[in-house]
Amino acid sequence: MGTQRLKIKDDLHYRKGSDAACCSHCNNFVGDFIRHGIGGVVLGTEARCMEIGMENSIKYRVNPSHICSRYDQSIYMLRLLGEKHYLEVHGQEKLDDAKVSLIAVQLLKINRSTDPA
Ligand code: SF4
Repeated sequence: MGTQRLKIKDDLHYRKGSDAACCSHCNNFVGDFIRHGIGGVVLGTEARCMEIGMENSIKYRVNPSHICSRYDQSIYMLRLLGEKHYLEVHGQEKLDDAKVSLIAVQLLKINRSTDPA
């Protein structure tokens, strides 16, 4: 029996990643999603992906060591390299994209922390 796999995980070719490229380095990874049970009881924190879905069901759980075709590590690399070196390696356009992604993720985190649900 077990839990049926989500179609989107197959569509995105969700699979085991590597130490260098995996969900935990991806812009879309959320490591502290709070899962609720009946009556709103907090069941604990699990990992989710903003591409796969921020849903309560365990079907949406993602493994930090996996990867998919929407992998984007620009924020991780921006933090790792620093702005100056990132610019040298990737150019101005990619740096601007990474900074926009960073702001978007920070805004989502603020929204999630102030969401009463
Ligand atoms: S987009 Fe893909 S690689 Fe990124 S967190 Fe989601 S499942 Fe992992």
